[in-house]
Amino acid sequence: MIIGSHVSISGKDMFLNSVREALSYGSDTFMIYTGAPQNTKRKDISELHIPEGRSLMAQSGMAGFLVHAPYIINMANTVNARTAELALEFLQLEISRTQALGSPVLIVHPGAHVGAGVQAGIRQIIWLLNEILSADTPCFLALETMAGKGSEIGSRFEELAAVYDGVVHSEKLRVCLDTCHVHDSGYDITGDFDGVIREFDRLIGQEQIAVIHLNDSKNPRGARKDRHENIGRGCIGFDALYRIAHHPAFAAVPKILETPYVPSLQDPRKKLPPYKEEIEMLRTGQGPSVPA
Ligand code: FE
Ligand code: FE
Ligand code: ZN
Repeated sequence: MIIGSHVSISGKDMFLNSVREALSYGSDTFMIYTGAPQNTKRKDISELHIPEGRSLMAQSGMAGFLVHAPYIINMANTVNARTAELALEFLQLEISRTQALGSPVLIVHPGAHVGAGVQAGIRQIIWLLNEILSADTPCFLALETMAGKGSEIGSRFEELAAVYDGVVHSEKLRVCLDTCHVHDSGYDITGDFDGVIREFDRLIGQEQIAVIHLNDSKNPRGARKDRHENIGRGCIGFDALYRIAHHPAFAAVPKILETPYVPSLQDPRKKLPPYKEEIEMLRTGQGPSVPA
């Protein structure tokens, strides 16, 4: 099992700090945003301390990591021309940053059609990806499966399959399967993960899954809410998440935790990352002992 979590990129050491944070949780891998996920302000590549971070990774035997594009990029927007333009420009820059950092995969949300309809949204995503992707694109673009809140596209595997069908360089596409999102969109990964994967395989091909976001969900299946919960504390449950984490078909696929910070026992006003404990739980098979 290759497991890690989302970590921050901050302080004066930037990417080097990200690697340190991941190591402090006992991770094999990790995921970063190249700056704040909610805006497009980005430091220059030369200020990210990439060589230092890469050498700490090599020393510690850390295999690789992933980059997540900011969620203000909306590839599906046909309503506001400026949003579409920004998505195009910014995604191109994120691809070059991903290459400079040395990650093979950039994860991106398909986007929201904001009222124009699913078909119009999918057409826009296809148009944009055909502008961006070429035979020389230096990384894979992994479309994330979404919960289906608001007008999000990508909560049905059929919608992602339609994007694949329209994109000329679909060999540059991959999928990031988020367990909270697929559960919230209605797929029964608790009771029948293999059945869900068969369905995915029929429509897209299971080898296209390049990343798994491993999160529990605060809400019942089909709620379309997208509220992540700590591992074993939510509606998906520890046993199902453990089985997914150790599924033989996805042994080489990195698992990334995006679970919420938890209040400190000493000082409940302080929130602490749960990742060290959750990674340990998923390695040992010992679920949360104290009921939440
Ligand atoms: Fe995401
Ligand atoms: Fe996710
Ligand atoms: Zn989410």
